[in-house]
Amino acid sequence: MQAVRLTEIGQPLEMQEIPTPSLGDQDVLVRVRAAGVCHSDAHYRAGTSPVAQLPITLGHEVAGTVERTGDEVSGFSAGDRVAIHYLATCGECHYCRLGYEQFCLTGQMIGKHRDGGYAEYIAVPARSVVPLPADIPFEAGAVMMCSTATSFHALRKARLQPGESVAVYGAGGLGMSAIQLARAFGALQVYAVDIDAGRLAMAEQLGAAPVDAAHLDPVASIRRLTSGKGVDVALELIGLPSTMQQAVRSLAIMGRAVLVGITDGSFPVRSYTEVLGKETEIIGASDHRIVELPLLFEFVRQGRLDLAQVITRRIPLDAAATNDALDNLQRYGAGVRTVIVP
Ligand SMILES: [Zn+2]
Ligand SMILES: [Zn+2]
Repeated sequence: MQAVRLTEIGQPLEMQEIPTPSLGDQDVLVRVRAAGVCHSDAHYRAGTSPVAQLPITLGHEVAGTVERTGDEVSGFSAGDRVAIHYLATCGECHYCRLGYEQFCLTGQMIGKHRDGGYAEYIAVPARSVVPLPADIPFEAGAVMMCSTATSFHALRKARLQPGESVAVYGAGGLGMSAIQLARAFGALQVYAVDIDAGRLAMAEQLGAAPVDAAHLDPVASIRRLTSGKGVDVALELIGLPSTMQQAVRSLAIMGRAVLVGITDGSFPVRSYTEVLGKETEIIGASDHRIVELPLLFEFVRQGRLDLAQVITRRIPLDAAATNDALDNLQRYGAGVRTVIVP
């Protein structure tokens, strides 16, 4: 089969002819119909985030149809429409048994630790496969496997209640889903904080009140917009210590700040005035759970989450076009999402 692969760090991806993956008894072979090109893939290509081995087929946002199933697989048959959870998990460790498979002790991320979806076919354990409803396009199913699902998990971790207010720090790929989902969860007011005028305009179209952090202090702006109260939930989707601190400082009494953006940096917190005296909470959210995916599909089916305007470009399975999409992500260029449609 054909696969677009990373063969050398810092070099363009290459098209290679490789054997179609062999199937274990509990595996499913999926014919890839859509694979999202993600900013993480640009980090893998550049070497700023390490892959497990070379060469490797990138791509962790994958949807397609079942081609073949292993001997012990039940519940799937050839032709089924499916989406693939980003982790191949053991299914047996403490965390897998609890349904928190993002902490699986031996979990392997597709497109990072093992071959991913920039290919004609991908093999994964059947437990990593979820049925994709007929009325959700493969492209939407694929991009939902990463940023959308992560935003969904973060809002669930925030225990967002109907009638509450939300500040979304970072109106990029994660933020666009978070804004729509927060409204679907019943948030009365959603504030989108960003420094980019284009992203703020798009956030406003989705129903968020824009908060321009390029020219004004977003914490002061949110205080002003909420009559001094602050927000009940603040999501930090950027991964900067400074915006994490702003998220905490935006909180109302008993507010919850959820940290999603990745950094190992630290930020100071005033123990009394910012946390214990207000009974606020600082919550971590890491990726998402497989049980959340069918629920997320329902939000799309009911029109509460629209990903049509998020997918801005479709390309064939082609190394040059994929490299071009990754270059664009590296430059933080225009457009939100490219999807490979093999
Ligand atoms: Zn991704
Ligand atoms: Zn496990």
